[in-house]
This record gives sequence, structure tokens and C-alpha cells, in this order.
Amino acid sequence: MQECLFCRIIKGEIPSEKVYEDENLYAFKDINPKAPVHLLIIPKKHYATLNDLPDAEMGVIAEIHCVIKKLAAEFGVAESGYRVLANVNKDGGQVVYHVHYHLIGGRQLRV
Ligand code: AMP
Ligand code: ZN
Repeated sequence: MQECLFCRIIKGEIPSEKVYEDENLYAFKDINPKAPVHLLIIPKKHYATLNDLPDAEMGVIAEIHCVIKKLAAEFGVAESGYRVLANVNKDGGQVVYHVHYHLIGGRQLRV
């Protein structure tokens, strides 16, 4: 079975513009940015969707938010503002089935 795109990015099999990495997380620039700042923050462990993340492992989401806060400051959007979102399954608009959070900012976002 073909391994998922983001797992391959974490392994370095597919290139990415890395902006952060630690033991549990990886973050990189979105290849098709919707705003001047568009980053993706992902757990290194593969979960297809948020529905598949066990309650006992939900701590990784707090870690992701710590990194989002840090990256928002680093990329200069902490004060101007930014959006954090995770798409889940088809109606949520999920395209890549490896849990990820978008950090989007650098322009006025409309709903
Ligand atoms: P989602 O719709 O939440 O599943 O978003 C998937 C995101 O992954 C989209 O914003 C894509 O632009 C982005 N994406 C897809 N392939 C790559 C890639 N190779 N490198 C960086 N971002 C990617
Ligand atoms: Zn994966």
C-alpha cells in the first residue's frame, strides 16, 4: 500500500519547506498557500483524521498549539491575527488523510 503523502514528507522522501521539527511534530509551508503565511503542523505519528486520534494521545494536539503559537510569532502574524483549522473527512474538505492543522495569516481572512 502506498504510504501517505505527509508520512513521506516527514521521512524526507518528498521535499518540503520545513519550518519546525521536534520528536513528535513536523511543520512545513503549504505548497499551495491561501495567504502570505500558510503553514501545516502535523504529528509525526500517522492518524488519518482527528476521529482516529485516541483520547489518551490528545496531548499531541496541545503540543501542536504550542508550536502554532511559536510559529505565528516567528512569521509575524501573532498580533495581526491568523486562523487555525483542521479539516475532517469529506464534508470538512480534508484532502490529505494525515492529521494536520493549518496556520493561515498575513491578510484579512473572510469566513
Ligand atoms: P486539507 O484540505 O486540510 O487536507 O489540506 C491539505 C493541504 O496540503 C492543502 O492545503 C495542500 O495545498 C497541502 N499540500 C498538499 N501536498 C503538499 C506538499 N507536497 N507539500 C506541502 N503542502 C502540500
Ligand atoms: Zn501519514
